Amino acid sequence: MQADYDVIIVGAGIAGLSAALYAARQRLKTLVISKDLGGQLNMTTLIENYPAIPKISGPELAKRVEQQARAFGAEIIFDEVKTIEKEGDVFVVKTEGGDEYRSLAVILAFGKTPKELNVPGEAKFKNKGVSYCTICDAPFFKGQDVALVSWGDLAREPVTILSSVANKFYWIFPSDKPIHDEEFIEQAKRLGKAVFMPNSEVVEIKGDTKVKAVVVRNKKTGEVQELPVAAVFIEVGYVTKSDFVRHLAELNERGEIIADWEGKTKTPGVFAAGDIVAYPYKQAVIAAAMGVASALSATAYVMKMKGKPVASLVDWKASK
Ligand SMILES: Cc1cc2nc3c(=O)[nH]c(=O)nc-3n(C[C@H](O)[C@H](O)[C@H](O)COP(=O)(O)OP(=O)(O)OC[C@H]3O[C@@H](n4cnc5c(N)ncnc54)[C@H](O)[C@@H]3O)c2cc1C
Repeated sequence: MQADYDVIIVGAGIAGLSAALYAARQRLKTLVISKDLGGQLNMTTLIENYPAIPKISGPELAKRVEQQARAFGAEIIFDEVKTIEKEGDVFVVKTEGGDEYRSLAVILAFGKTPKELNVPGEAKFKNKGVSYCTICDAPFFKGQDVALVSWGDLAREPVTILSSVANKFYWIFPSDKPIHDEEFIEQAKRLGKAVFMPNSEVVEIKGDTKVKAVVVRNKKTGEVQELPVAAVFIEVGYVTKSDFVRHLAELNERGEIIADWEGKTKTPGVFAAGDIVAYPYKQAVIAAAMGVASALSATAYVMKMKGKPVASLVDWKASK
């Protein structure tokens, strides 16, 4: 079976676009198939921590990398990948739109989506005080009163960050205790910024042009309180839809793909990059770098498949 492309990249978030830029520049015939352009970058209006770019909106960052990738010849089509099967040395990629594409390698960069609370006001105030990424957005609310909806191990990072950044934060969680780890609870109490709101749920997020208050109901007593806050951080997990690659890559219990630093998965020719990879730090620059590593690994793989010389990996220490 003949391949139409050297590499097909699933997802046009920052990981997939960065992979496309590198793969195309390495002269691989490159196709990106994605449901949208930018992925999670579309959920943020201001990024201040992408190296060399002091301030940029998420969509603008995606657009710039898209243009860079296209300039090197990468093709991008908008569709959803439904299945990927390996037939001999070729991967057959089928989409929701009914199209079929063949490639020698694939890069899985289809990311994840934060879970939402689905309460009134949440959608309206996204990027206007409602955030699904505390590490990304907490610095915008330095010294202010905010709310955090999170529990279990997921709460460790946002609680630690808000304990240093916020004036105080209402920690809203649905049971008696926010996390099993008593030591962590004591530490949060000692830091003195968390106002514990046990057995509670958010019923509404209010504001005008931005968030002004969160309405919280105590599930045991029925009491409803309106708390003045500048932001509501929602960290209740992510949705990963990776079942369709389970036969190609090992997944962890959260549906994240197990890949090494070169982006390699258990199947030769299948690489993974970005937030879909089981790696703890979910940030744009890291996703971009993973995309680059995967593209370089895919290049070496494709060259080998074509019987062409493969540029060896340079060991910088050894060259001293
Ligand atoms: C609110 C918020 C604010 C953030 N702020 C920052 C910040 O300030 N700085 C920072 O560094 N990071 C920030 N992040 C994190 C950063 O956005 C992510 O780490 C990064 O965008 C992940 O990129 P990705 O390409 O791995 O995945 P994603 O962005 O999730 O992209 C995945 C792409 O794959 C597509 N896709 C999914 N399934 C399929 C399929 N089956 N077929 C085809 N396409 C598919 C999606 O449509 C999407 O285009 C923020 C995240 C959020 C949610």
